[in-house]
Formats: sequence, structure tokens, C-alpha cells
Amino acid sequence: MIYLDSAASYPVLPEVKASLIEAFELYYANSSSSHLLGEQVLKSIDKVREKLADEIGAYPSEIVFTSGATESNNIAFKSLLPSSLMASNKKHIVIGATEHKCIFAICDYLKGSGYDISIVMPNTQGIIESRSVEKVIREDTILVSVMHVNNELGTVNPIAEIGEICFKRGVLFHSDVAQSFCKISIDVDEMNVDMMSFSAHKIGGPKGIGAVYIRDLRKRDITPVIHGAGQEQGVRGGTIAAPLILGFGTAIDAFPRHYQTLSKSNIRSYLLEQLKASKINFKVNGNRDVLPHIISLTLPDTNASLLIRDNEQRLCLAQGSACSSKDIEASHVLTALGLTREQAEQTFRISFTNDITYENINYLVSAIKKAAN
Ligand SMILES: *Cc1c(COP(=O)(O)O)cnc(C)c1O
Repeated sequence: MIYLDSAASYPVLPEVKASLIEAFELYYANSSSSHLLGEQVLKSIDKVREKLADEIGAYPSEIVFTSGATESNNIAFKSLLPSSLMASNKKHIVIGATEHKCIFAICDYLKGSGYDISIVMPNTQGIIESRSVEKVIREDTILVSVMHVNNELGTVNPIAEIGEICFKRGVLFHSDVAQSFCKISIDVDEMNVDMMSFSAHKIGGPKGIGAVYIRDLRKRDITPVIHGAGQEQGVRGGTIAAPLILGFGTAIDAFPRHYQTLSKSNIRSYLLEQLKASKINFKVNGNRDVLPHIISLTLPDTNASLLIRDNEQRLCLAQGSACSSKDIEASHVLTALGLTREQAEQTFRISFTNDITYENINYLVSAIKKAAN
């Protein structure tokens, strides 16, 4: 199988696998227990907390481990807003049109509690521009949320610029960095971010673990998303998932090396060259400065369903339209870029791992060629 869907989930790195096995064997105690083993588990969790905090220029006390970026996004939107410290008459939220689906689901829910949502459209290159965000901020805006790197295009949004605007206007700023963490550098102060969401399985860590950064967490009045026995500073109850956290920590250490290998291979440009050489009609969505592991390709002269069907056993590809129940729904990211439904159906998000080879790309290109209309 040629795996071309690392943006959906990156295969677990060998280093992570080893540390998970070790953690399941040795760190089985409950980190809340006051005996020696419990304390060892707690210490090892806090080392990962420090590592993650260091990586983004934050304090360990500002990191809460969660089940992943979806939960972190939920916490960012639902835990801070109802708190009494916030002016209760501020009920306006601004999000980018290219956010991850879960952000839209959270906003739909918040609409029911009287929040008004503004959606900022990207430019033709798929970028959420800071001036577009600035235009919609109002007196009653409480929160702006714009992701760092887009998961369908690989485009990088100007987070520091948007953060500066939010800071000046006294608006909370959240960024989902699931696709950029450990790929490009992140600094919560330079970016003026108040909250940030992370996911381990996008960097070769295990699924079901992630984190949320909340600036000055200790001073804030937070509504728990999961009420429990006080774990994670009361934000998220439940026994802390020590083995998964240790695997996440190993991924933070190991992933950048693997990603460098991937970047150096220039696999993205190789694919584009081969498409040209094979005279395949294609269009790349997003701008030039995308991350090297991801490419969004529209193939106007290719029979998309034939390509998928013929290669079911060989290629793991993400199509630009997701089958939700029986209806095919065009990706909201692609339609925000102005693609028609038909164009979205002819669009593939191809995302690489460090194991990808030039032969894999040759296979992909010949498969596309064979599926010509
Ligand atoms: C994958 C992804 C998520 C969801 O992360 P989970 O850890 O699977 O909940 C959220 N946002 C972005 C940008 C993602 O790529």
C-alpha cells in the first residue's frame, strides 16, 4: 500500500512504538497515587509537559493534556467563554472559512447559546489574511480562531499578524496548530496566541492524545469540559493517559528528524515534474509557500472515481469531497477557494510520510495517467 494520507494521520514512528511498549509495561500506575510508582509516572508526564511548553515558549502550567486537537478546540471555545471574568455581553466569534470541520460544529453548538459567528473568507491562495480578520472584529468580539497550517492545502496563515490585531483589540486568539506543530516553529508570545490546540497523531504519535495551551491558565476562571477529580488543573477530569503522553513526548523529539528527511527529498516538486512530463492536466490549490508534506491537486481531465476504484488496493488517497452518509459533500475548504462542486470532486489531497519513494510517486503518476477521461 502506498500511504498518501499523512495529513489525516501520520504512521506511528518506530521510536514512538518502542516508547509506548515501554510505557505500557513500566508506567502503569495512576499518576495521582502518592506511592513511588505513581510519583514516577507523574514525573514522566510532567517532563513531556515541559518539553511541549519549551517547544512553543510557554510555561508547563499552561499545558493541559487532552484526547486530541478536537477536544482541545472544544476546550478553547467552551471553557473560557462562559467564565465570569469575561464580559458577558461579548457574544461574537470570528473564525476562518478554512478551519477544521470540528470548529464549525462547535460554533453551530454555540449559536444555540446566543453567540454570533463571523466567517472570514480566504484569498484565492487559501490564506486567511490579517486585514480580512481585522475588518470583522467588533466591540463585542470575544474570540478569534484561525488555524496555523491548513490540513487540506498545507498553506500557512499569518498567525503573528492576526495575533497582534487581536492583542490590540483585546480579543482572545486561538489557533489550531495540529498540522504545523513540529514542522514549523511556533512561539506563543511572538504569535500573541492565548490558546493553541495540538494533536499527537499528526506527528507520528499515538491517536487519542493531544494538548491545549491556555495562557495564564492558573489565573483564569475555567469551566471544565469534563468534570472529574481535579486532574489537569481541573480542566479535564479522568486518569491521565500516561503511556499515550509518553508516546507523544517521544514523537515531539523524533518527528522533526523524520520531517527533515521528507523535506530534503523534494518529493512534492518531483511529483509536479512527473505530472508535467506525463502531460497530465493539473492545478495546485493554495499558494507556493505550502509545507512540503502536502499538496492539493485538481485533475480536470482525470476520472476521479476510476482512479480511486482502480487503485483501492494500492493507494491511500484523500479526495476533495468527503462521503458523509450517502451524500457526497464537497470540501468546505475547496469551495471557500472558489472551486465548484465538480472541481472539488476532481481534487485530491496528497500528503506524504518520510517513507515515500520516487517509485511510489511514479506509480501514482502512471495511475493518474491511466484514469484519464
Ligand atoms: C487532525 C486535525 C484535527 C483533529 O485532531 P484529533 O487529534 O484527531 O482530534 C484538528 N485540526 C486539524 C487542523 C487537524 O489536522
